[in-house]
Amino acid sequence: MTRIDELEKKYPTIPKDVIVKWDVFCRGVRDNRDIDKASVWRSAAHSSYQSFDEDYTLERLKRETPWRFKGDAMLVPDWIWMSSGLAFPLYRKEHSTYTIREVKEGRLALFDGEEMIDVDLHVAPPRDRMPELKTSKGTPAAELVSLERRCYNVWPVRFCEYFTTGEECKFCNFNPTQEQARAVGLNRPVTINPDETAEAFKLYGSRLRLIEGHLESGGFATSETEASVNMRFVDRLSNALPYRTHLKLVAEAMPRKELQRLRDAGLVGIRFQMEAVDERLFPIINPGKAKHMSWEGWLEAFQDAVDIYGVGNVGCKTIGGVTMQGPEGYATWQEARDSHIEGDKWMISHGIFPSMDSLRWAPGSPYSRDLANRSKYPPTEFFLDCIVGHDKAMNEHGLYDKMNKFLYCGLDCQHRPYCGEMGILQRVPDFGTWMSAVVPYEQNWLAQFLDSVKEKECVKTT
Ligand code: SF4
Repeated sequence: MTRIDELEKKYPTIPKDVIVKWDVFCRGVRDNRDIDKASVWRSAAHSSYQSFDEDYTLERLKRETPWRFKGDAMLVPDWIWMSSGLAFPLYRKEHSTYTIREVKEGRLALFDGEEMIDVDLHVAPPRDRMPELKTSKGTPAAELVSLERRCYNVWPVRFCEYFTTGEECKFCNFNPTQEQARAVGLNRPVTINPDETAEAFKLYGSRLRLIEGHLESGGFATSETEASVNMRFVDRLSNALPYRTHLKLVAEAMPRKELQRLRDAGLVGIRFQMEAVDERLFPIINPGKAKHMSWEGWLEAFQDAVDIYGVGNVGCKTIGGVTMQGPEGYATWQEARDSHIEGDKWMISHGIFPSMDSLRWAPGSPYSRDLANRSKYPPTEFFLDCIVGHDKAMNEHGLYDKMNKFLYCGLDCQHRPYCGEMGILQRVPDFGTWMSAVVPYEQNWLAQFLDSVKEKECVKTT
């Protein structure tokens, strides 16, 4: 019996693809050449190599796997998709029991040790090839806007001021990752110009109907600078094209008047990265964020955001198990779980959609330097219990039906950390169908892709 079989027995109400996703998400995969068959070349301006291993820096990656670097681009593992349209990322972990292997040409499978897991894996079709577009100043558009088919990401400032004041979040490696990139010769500009970004965005958006995207940056020591950066980018991107995309911002909490100004400028949704919804541990884990705004201030900002953006358009990012870390953290994963579920319940009862990332010892983060922490990964059961608690609260408050499907867009870039898939897959057969309520079929690559997978399976069985 595989570990997935055991988890399925233990959690009979959770669909199998959800269990597979979270077990691989939390336990990582061992690196091998077959992972490259599910990888894509990405501009170094945006890419980072995600790993659980605190000593697995980009320098080591380049030394051991030089073929994954070419000019200013990196070969980065893409997500692996399942028949439900759920996907999981391939984060490397040296001692994971999971591997991805090619079992026959073009067919990948998930192995736990030497046992193959009974789940269909699919590599997504290649993205449309865009010509190499450049702005009038000669900057490659890909350095400014990261395109995910019809979705996009913009990082206005690839830098966080809390690292210079020693107030960085304890799990984070944002600045060290940039330094590592420079050490292996990858060019990642620290800031980008909003007008030039709007120009790059226009180059893409006039060739392809863009649907949704988000802005995200590091923390700022002053709220005024943060507000002005956010405002300039929202304003430029909202007005760059003759049509509007679903633009969201991932940010720190902010005062009501900033929320309103951004809404007026065209922002349609917002997610605050609170990481730990636990009053005692929030300021210990996130010293900069807690200085930026008090615990009460963060909770008030969530409620203001729901008032202004409406239920369905406001989210909160959390990290599962981060409250177990350090000497002040919870001693057991069960206590950390109960605290996490309490936080989720508060969010959901106020019309907010929490998501949950897996915990990783990102190289360069304060926690990764603390040897005592290294045995403190929560088990997958932590995440699955939180998913069940999340689902219960979502049903109690009737929130699945109020969710803006772009908040954690099922098409590409956002649904990875969302933990409400359990309820979504009880309502629709797959994520392509979920998104079809808001995206026409000809723009819904996921629905088309899942249909093509089904067709191939039909041909196989007839
Ligand atoms: S605010 Fe925290 S999580 Fe965000 S980049 Fe800075 S240190 Fe990292």
